[in-house]
Amino acid sequence: MSSRLERLAAVLEERDIDVFLTTSPFVMGYLKGLHEGGGERLLGLFVHRSGKHRLICPALSENQARRGGVEDVWSWRDGQDAFRLVQETAAEWGVAEGRWAIDDEVRAQHVLALQAALPGHSFVGGGLVVAALTQYKTLEEVSHLNTAGRIADEAFAEMLPQVRAGMTEREVAAILMDGMARRGGKPTFCIIAAGAFGAEPHHETDDTVLKSGDMVVIDWGCTWEGYNADSTRTISIGEPSDPEARRVYGLVYQAQKAARDLIRPGVSFQDIDRAARKVIEDAGFGEFFNHRTGHGLGLRGHEEPNVVEGNAQAVAPGHVFSIEPGIYLPGRFGVRIENIVTVTEEGHHSFNVEPPEELVVV
Ligand code: ZN
Ligand code: ZN
Repeated sequence: MSSRLERLAAVLEERDIDVFLTTSPFVMGYLKGLHEGGGERLLGLFVHRSGKHRLICPALSENQARRGGVEDVWSWRDGQDAFRLVQETAAEWGVAEGRWAIDDEVRAQHVLALQAALPGHSFVGGGLVVAALTQYKTLEEVSHLNTAGRIADEAFAEMLPQVRAGMTEREVAAILMDGMARRGGKPTFCIIAAGAFGAEPHHETDDTVLKSGDMVVIDWGCTWEGYNADSTRTISIGEPSDPEARRVYGLVYQAQKAARDLIRPGVSFQDIDRAARKVIEDAGFGEFFNHRTGHGLGLRGHEEPNVVEGNAQAVAPGHVFSIEPGIYLPGRFGVRIENIVTVTEEGHHSFNVEPPEELVVV
């Protein structure tokens, strides 16, 4: 198989783009094994449609960059104009009035400087250029994702019997993070959202004390060899105090199942989103499912393609994404259930154990 950079060059050719720029350590890591970030200093990989590529980086990063395996490195010192080097590169590569694809995570300050340095050139978003490659995982990548998922699952199973009323969200998170780290994972995040905070999908874990009767949303992840796990379970501390809690849990479970039952090559991402949404809408909770059904993941916790209305792309083997429907009742509680799956010839494979059909009460 050709190298990732050669495949990227083919995508540029196909989309009539002259140069692609990324400053993301994830993308440079994926393309070239170079996990470096320059922050406010320009450290970027420039890839020409011919496959020629050059790293322009601060002098202080040059040694690390060369170790990363890029041969063509131009460095600049603080006080010099890094974008002069970009102009010279464009001239050397014969790019005049070129079309540039800029990766999604390039800082605005760098995009603006680039635009000022290259009048007459045009600039388009480069996120989909990267996604054309990264969305199809190799067997090795799938294996890393599987391991990350197993570590996350095991840490959760170890944590569950320790959770009780009186603990804080932070204490629960610490047990889970520690469990992932002891298994060799790199913990990346942990949302513990108790009671009414569960109705905020991205609640910031804090010193809220878990009370008997609380529903608790637990969303956590780690990486293995750089590849992400991301899982969510919802449990109750004692019998749930809200009379609708069990029913809502059952609906989210059914929504997750309906979406996953549909997955097979050829079905579109939006059809999968609709399958989950239909279960929740039919039960009258549609307005309380306020996000997409899922997102792709790999080296990044969130990446294309998304399981969302409007994405008519067909799923195919190698795609990896989350299925995570939720219902969030403001001031009361929330429920979300999330597994990471990959598409197989026959259907899908989950990187996480199956969520329980009945609400787990601890
Ligand atoms: Zn998650
Ligand atoms: Zn997720």
